[in-house]
Amino acid sequence: MKPNYVRVIIDRAIQREFDYSVPETLADRIDIGSRVRVPFRDKSALATVLATLEQSDAKGIRPIEALVGEAPAISESLLELAKWMSAYYCCPLETVIRSLLPQVIRRAEVGWKKRLLVQPLTKIENSEAGVADKIDNLRKRAPRQAELFDAIVRLEKPMPAAELLRKTSFDNQTLRALVKRGLIKLREETVERDPHADEQFVATTNLELNAEQALALNKITDALAAPERAKPILLHGVTGSGKTEIYLQAIRVALERGRSAIVLVPEISLTPQTVERFKSRFAEMHEAVAVLHSHLSQGERHDEWHKIHSGRARIVIGARSAVFAPLKDVGLIIVDEEHETTYKQEEAPRYHARDVAVVRAKIEKCAVVLGSATPSLESYHNATTGKYELLTLSQRVDDQRMPLMRIVDLRQERRKEKIAPILSEKLSQAIADRLEKREQTILFLNRRGFSTSLLCSNCGEARNCPNCSVALTFHRHMARLSCHLCGHTAAVPKKCPECGKDSLIYAGFGTEKVESTVSHLFPKANVRRMDADSMTRKEAYRETLRNFRTGKIDILVGTQMIAKGLHFPNVTLVGIINADLALHLPDFRAGERTFQLLTQVAGRAGRGETAGEVFVQTYTPFSPSIQFARHHDFPGYFQQELEFRERCDFPPFKHAILITVRSAHEGRAKLSAETLVRRLKESLGSEFILGETTPAPLEKLQGQFRFHILLRGEAIMRLSRLARETLDKLPLPEDVIATVDVDPYQLL
Ligand code: ADP
Ligand code: ZN
Repeated sequence: MKPNYVRVIIDRAIQREFDYSVPETLADRIDIGSRVRVPFRDKSALATVLATLEQSDAKGIRPIEALVGEAPAISESLLELAKWMSAYYCCPLETVIRSLLPQVIRRAEVGWKKRLLVQPLTKIENSEAGVADKIDNLRKRAPRQAELFDAIVRLEKPMPAAELLRKTSFDNQTLRALVKRGLIKLREETVERDPHADEQFVATTNLELNAEQALALNKITDALAAPERAKPILLHGVTGSGKTEIYLQAIRVALERGRSAIVLVPEISLTPQTVERFKSRFAEMHEAVAVLHSHLSQGERHDEWHKIHSGRARIVIGARSAVFAPLKDVGLIIVDEEHETTYKQEEAPRYHARDVAVVRAKIEKCAVVLGSATPSLESYHNATTGKYELLTLSQRVDDQRMPLMRIVDLRQERRKEKIAPILSEKLSQAIADRLEKREQTILFLNRRGFSTSLLCSNCGEARNCPNCSVALTFHRHMARLSCHLCGHTAAVPKKCPECGKDSLIYAGFGTEKVESTVSHLFPKANVRRMDADSMTRKEAYRETLRNFRTGKIDILVGTQMIAKGLHFPNVTLVGIINADLALHLPDFRAGERTFQLLTQVAGRAGRGETAGEVFVQTYTPFSPSIQFARHHDFPGYFQQELEFRERCDFPPFKHAILITVRSAHEGRAKLSAETLVRRLKESLGSEFILGETTPAPLEKLQGQFRFHILLRGEAIMRLSRLARETLDKLPLPEDVIATVDVDPYQLL
């Protein structure tokens, strides 16, 4: 049925829906999920069709101006998902849609890439009357043109103009001259930008699964066959237990049944290695695997999106936002490393891709698998209470042993040396031993820079960021101080700007200092650093990984960039320089993060023939997260952490909502937050826990003073709605902003 009217939501958030009439010419092509351009006030605006209508009571209805793109950009199930997100995450629907559709598609600014093909000349054309004369003429007057013409005559099939010019070293002008003379023809063609075009993928086949793997795959294929009855599956498998192999085989089954699959991986694990594993397994299916990540150019993103939307791609592998991939017939959604906090988006809509994946699976009636070596407390709790199905892989493939974890007590080291060294004696001995055996070492520290603060030993002042309440980090390679939160940089003062004394000292250390210390201690070793500072060039990352793989690098120093998903059989030693960094953050997940990080980093050691060894340097050797990680005891750790969460009414027992009220004006922010708390007190029932207004741990960020209000409760949908309604009714001063974060991960 052709719609007479449509109800749309306009991109610019105004939280209202509007009706428009549909011109006859567009009626066949418009449907729910279509993108349209409509007149709005005195301008035109982009909008999404939410419903098609036969009638509308709205007054002053105007017609749609144009359709943007062809088939509806958003399927009905994705629209349903968007509505759920809007309600759950307390966020206007148009903001959700902004996340759901890449900008290139939403605005339809970028199109297909075109290129020109040089057509070979047929015999007939070539012998046409007059051509021979023209050529003779050309040979005398423009010999270069004639030469190019001869080259084109020799072509057997069409060739891209750019390629021809490159190969023959003629310029574009010469080519154009030939066209103008009517001697040759060019044809325009649409080409797909393929970021992996010049890579070769060698086909791989299914490996024979071990018993645990086979059981897991069986359960997943059962879920594929009857998704309505199946629960989400949590695949808990130690690092190297063969989870990815199971994903690959499960996807194969889904494809055989005519369904498609989405694989989410944390951005950081979306390495060439990972992509290659997927592309190679499905190498025989041309175009089958689409890859979505944040480094795609606008044009590449446009093409990948269309490849998925049109159904040519059957497998999508990507980071967080790939959960919205416009695939049809989705049969399987996999969320690898489901515990990763990067799945949480830290700007509106503040969604968690793992949770969105579970909801999408429910809407699309497909199977969903969450995999991890260190499941989040939320997911594991869901599994132990029967909401999810738990599958376990307890062994590494080939029965490799778990690495031996040694704890180094930095308090004792400090007693020996007065100041704690960056590398304890034990750790440096272990490195020396590896160097001798020609084995490799990874050193991990989750902090960039050289020194983490510049202090005055006379007056005690640190150099702080003028915009944020944190100390500036000293970076030696640029010889400047820099703020890791807002990017502010400053020159390094010679004297203390506060007291004028020549008494500045560098305190604390980051990866840059570790690198320099290690190079100093082991002058013969090849040491490289891998963090956001050293990997600014796109190629640097691949290059470093390649050199590490081929053994050109002996010691790799890095931040979380090296913690995840890399397989290097010759790495037999991992050193965690300071395990306490995460533990002391004011965050109820601090212990969980430490446990996960230690386990993940340790998983990098000993993947080959030789067993691995891990040194964990810490000031709190007896903290539970460190002790349980040391014994590879996930259930033990889970139990004690769960008790703590229950005692304190934290997730997974209660949902949390964090409201942040901020302003450049401290007093106004505080006052607004306090007023908001009073209103919330009136509107929230007693089943919810309402916290007081507190200054955020990070009181000042990018020039804004920040206050927190934490709400907790079990009925999250109701709590979300009440919070949103209360906020909407509260008039905030113009320079005060309140943000709502449902299931927050960032509590700073
Ligand atoms: P995970 O994803 O759990 O870390 P992977 O799937 O990456 O584990 O497996 C680790 C290594 O073991 C990979 O090199 C993989 O090819 C290999 N592997 C996985 N399953 C098997 C199997 N059944 N037989 C032999 N090798 C396997
Ligand atoms: Zn700053």
